[in-house]
Amino acid sequence: MSSNAEEVNASVPPSGTGCADCLAGDGPGWWLHLRRCAACGHVGCCDNSPSQHATAHAEGSGHPVIQSFEPGEDWFYDYRTGDSLNGPRLAPPDSHPSDQPVPGPAGAVPSDWHDHLN
Ligand SMILES: [Zn+2]
Ligand SMILES: [Zn+2]
Repeated sequence: MSSNAEEVNASVPPSGTGCADCLAGDGPGWWLHLRRCAACGHVGCCDNSPSQHATAHAEGSGHPVIQSFEPGEDWFYDYRTGDSLNGPRLAPPDSHPSDQPVPGPAGAVPSDWHDHLN
């Protein structure tokens, strides 16, 4: 991977186990999948989620590279090129807890959640 250290910082741990913005009360408060900013560790929700916080973070911060924060997934994605790519092993944990439901978090997902995906 050719990204520089400002785009991918393998020493920064993730911000938490869920979308930082959903958990802070921005939007309906639940997500489908999680994405982690490779530069600062911000955990945000994917573009299928109601609030699309991962993309909002990338646009707002200028951090262009994310990694999936889903268990068993290690792909990176570069917003500038639209390409998936490989990258270094980031500071653990490298996913949300495997017992955290998808969509999540537990207790915040409406029964008609499928109708609210983007
Ligand atoms: Zn979110
Ligand atoms: Zn970031």
